[in-house]
Amino acid sequence: MTLLEKLESKERLNYEDGVALYELDLFTLGKYANEKRRALYQNKAFFNINRHVNPTNICKDICKFCAFSANRKNPNPYTMTHEEILSILDESIKHNITEVHIVSAHNKDAGLDWYMGIFKKIKDRFPALHVKALTAAEINFLATTNDKSYEQIIDMMIQNGVDSMPGGGAEIFDETVRDYICKGKVSSKQWMEIHEIWHKKGKKSNATMLFGHVEKREHRIDHMLRLREQQDKSGGFNAFIPLVYQRENNYLHVEDFLSSVEILKTYAISRLMLDNIPHIKAYWATSTINLALIAQEFGADDLDGTIEKESIQSAAGAKSKNGLELQEFLDLIQTSGFTPVQRDSLYNELEVYK
Ligand code: SF4
Repeated sequence: MTLLEKLESKERLNYEDGVALYELDLFTLGKYANEKRRALYQNKAFFNINRHVNPTNICKDICKFCAFSANRKNPNPYTMTHEEILSILDESIKHNITEVHIVSAHNKDAGLDWYMGIFKKIKDRFPALHVKALTAAEINFLATTNDKSYEQIIDMMIQNGVDSMPGGGAEIFDETVRDYICKGKVSSKQWMEIHEIWHKKGKKSNATMLFGHVEKREHRIDHMLRLREQQDKSGGFNAFIPLVYQRENNYLHVEDFLSSVEILKTYAISRLMLDNIPHIKAYWATSTINLALIAQEFGADDLDGTIEKESIQSAAGAKSKNGLELQEFLDLIQTSGFTPVQRDSLYNELEVYK
């Protein structure tokens, strides 16, 4: 069976198919990805009203692609107090946020009690707010520095009010690339293990992929297939989020920026390969809002949210704005020909803007 026949018959695609998909022209690829996306969600483009909080940039790790952590290139260490975080949320709640997204660096001084304490305080003050917090990399860091198992940390997160896990820290699973770009960080196997434990608790998470640096197309396909295999086993991934690498203020020294065609192809291929992960998110803070909107025609169905303030990608040179006003967000989606659908963090529809 040829690749096009497989696409027509919607057969599950293998590694060789995934690599071959990149050789198709963008519009053929887009046609199949868009058909699949529209069969699932028609004209809807999902988003949520959320606030990102990055409580500290002091990190024991030294990922080469990172521009967020405090180092020679970014000598600006900070750690927020609980009071600062709560007062940020006091403001954000006035904008009707339904989710706070908390990810951070690996700071030995902001320990387990510090994290669990802020989660509990947030839940006590804002019981209806969905707390999405701690990547698998952060859980690995907290477990190893506190001599706890992953399950112990996860149980503590749940007890203190964390509702779901973000998908960060996945980067690229291929061990050789991973060793080069973020040696010492959570391994690919550990990343999967942590999400599997989380899923077994009946909880949902997301999965990211950082692309456009030193990896090859083959590594992206391998990354997607490892996630698809895990999803067959534990089933808790809600969304796959391809993150476009930002090249400023870091130690990877990648000169070429990916073309928009390559980025759109990657969204489309994600939709076609990941037949068991419901949502493909074009995270506009890394792709720009314009490309994220175009990506909705190439397999993506979600744009993340209003964000309000973002520190990690903007430190690496992301040219997107830090956040968007709700009305601006709605206007952009509607003028792109899509129906904006405000969702909650678990993809329940809250409001359809006709
Ligand atoms: S990517 Fe995360 S773990 Fe790596 S250096 Fe940056 S803040 Fe630390």
